[in-house]
This record gives sequence, structure tokens and C-alpha cells, in this order.
Amino acid sequence: MNTPNHIPAEKFQTALLGWYARGHRAMPWRDENASPYHIWLAEVMLQQTTVTAVIPYYQRFLHRFPTLQSLAEAPIDDVLQHWQGLGYYRRAHMLHKCAQTLMRDHNGQFPVTEAELLNLPGLGPYTAAVIAATAFNTAANVVDGNVERVISRLYRVQQELPAARTTLRNLADHLASPAEPRLYANAIMELGSQVCTPTTPQCLLCPVAQWCEANQHGDQTTYPRKAPKKQTPHHTATAWLITDASGHIYLQQRPATGLLASLYELPHSGWEPKSTPQQAPLMLETQTECGSITHVFSHFKLTLNLLHTEVTNIPAANRFHPEALPALSTLMRKALTHALKQT
Ligand code: SF4
Repeated sequence: MNTPNHIPAEKFQTALLGWYARGHRAMPWRDENASPYHIWLAEVMLQQTTVTAVIPYYQRFLHRFPTLQSLAEAPIDDVLQHWQGLGYYRRAHMLHKCAQTLMRDHNGQFPVTEAELLNLPGLGPYTAAVIAATAFNTAANVVDGNVERVISRLYRVQQELPAARTTLRNLADHLASPAEPRLYANAIMELGSQVCTPTTPQCLLCPVAQWCEANQHGDQTTYPRKAPKKQTPHHTATAWLITDASGHIYLQQRPATGLLASLYELPHSGWEPKSTPQQAPLMLETQTECGSITHVFSHFKLTLNLLHTEVTNIPAANRFHPEALPALSTLMRKALTHALKQT
């Protein structure tokens, strides 16, 4: 790896911004009318999801919650309902909490600097930086996974992720444009997403190829270096589809804190290593098998075996029609859809 100065920052910025000005993808949160609220919402949704997948969720969410105030005043169940399908529901809880904090403590306005934004609930270094740069055009070091890949290749950073993160941030900071924070942040993220891709970087089309060490060595796809992954644990559990004669389904609500907080679910036996195994909540006499599903969480894989039974009575608080379901996690929607097809 060379020193940061082997790439002249101003020439790099000119090449990158010129390329971006010649054309880039249109995104609703990048148009001229996009407010800080729009940009923040999009960035939170994009944390674990692709741009193409996010757009319909983003539009549906904004249709229901057009302003920060409408989001802050909404019940959390309503927010979760509109988050369904995006997964990682903690993001929806933090979004709601942050909207309430902004309304209560900031007069409904986002602060403009990276440092102030970092104090808001749920905003990490990347989200704070991207809002500061793209919503307010203030200087900020925006480094997401795409930018890490570009920087690691430009400098052939040998250190492995995640330990390399500080080095990559420092190198990214050297190249960032203090004069054009918004354009620069959008341009370098677009380069990583569209040109400097993980497995097939388009180096012949790259506006900064002349400074790229990995391109010169022909080992682009070996960067960023990553520490070997640990094997993912695999857990097995049982979930029950309980219906009554009219086709209503028994669902229970999860606690208001912790994994998948406040979402509804089929009763199940528990799957986290420390969870207490549960039995089905009603007296179940006849149970029929209805297959299984496998779901991958961030830190383990789960196989959920599904059993079906019909009961005469479901308590009102737990009784839901299949066409009017409350907010369910991705896992539980998958399990319910699969089980219903088998019955
Ligand atoms: S030259 Fe290739 S590897 Fe280097 S930054 Fe450009 S696309 Fe990425």
C-alpha cells in the first residue's frame, strides 16, 4: 500500500465528479425536492436492502407517513406494518424513536452537522455522514461498503476487514472533496455500486483507474481483504399454525424490546440458545406436519418445522383473519405462507 498522497486528491475529485455529471442512476431520494427526512428514511431502508428493492417500500412508507411529524405521531404497530418485508425491524423501531426525538427536542428539524446527527437515536457514523453531506452539503466522510471496496482497491490495503475500517476511513477522508460534499458522496458511492463491483469491476470504464494500484496489479477482486468467516450455527425449532373452523389464525405478539420487538408470530418452541423452550399455547390434540422452512439470520441459521392443528376457540386478542394480519417478521410470514399452502 502506498501513502495517501500517491493519489492527488483534487485531480481524483475532478475525474470522479466529471464521470458522475455525465450520467448516474435516478433515485427518488436524490432528486432536487428530496428533504432530509426523505434522505434519512432511504438511508435507513438501504442499510440491508438494495436500491431496486427499496424503492417500492420507500414510496409506500412515504405515502402513509409523508412527514416527520406523521411518523412521530403514528403508533409503532402501524410503522412496523409498513416496514413488513424489509426485515431487520430494529431499524423501524429506531426510525420511530428518532422521529419522536426530532419533534420533541429539535423542533422537527434535523441538525446539520455530522457530530450533531450522531447524537440522534439509531444514527451511526455512516448515516450521520451521508445525511450531513447529501441533505445539507456539509463536509462529511461518507464511507459505506461500496466506498470501502473502492478505497481498498485504489490503495491495495492489505489489512483485513473489519480491522481495516479506520485505515479505509482515513484514506477516504484524504480523497473527499470539501468543496462538493453532496456530489462527491453520491459519486463515490455510485462508482462502487455500478463500476467497482465486488466480483466484476469494470476497470476499463472507471474514471479513476489511472490511480488504482489493484488495477495495475490485476488483483482487484481480492480486495477488500476480509477475515475468514466463522461457521454459522444452525438451530432447529417448531412453530404451530393454529386455526379455527372459520380459518382465523392464532398469533401472539412478541415483547416490546429485544429481537423482532412488538411483531406478531406463530407460537413456537423458541430457537435462540438461551431461550426457554415453549409448548403450544392451547391444548392441541391432533397435529399434522406441514413441512419446514429455513431462514438465515445475521448470526445463525434456523430450520423451523411446522405443525398444524384446528381448535374450536381462539382468544379474541390472538385471533386474526389471514387477509388482515398484523405486522409479522419475514421469518413468520415465510412460515405462515408455507404452512397455509400445506393445509
Ligand atoms: S480501476 Fe477497477 S478496481 Fe480500481 S477503482 Fe476502478 S473499478 Fe475499482
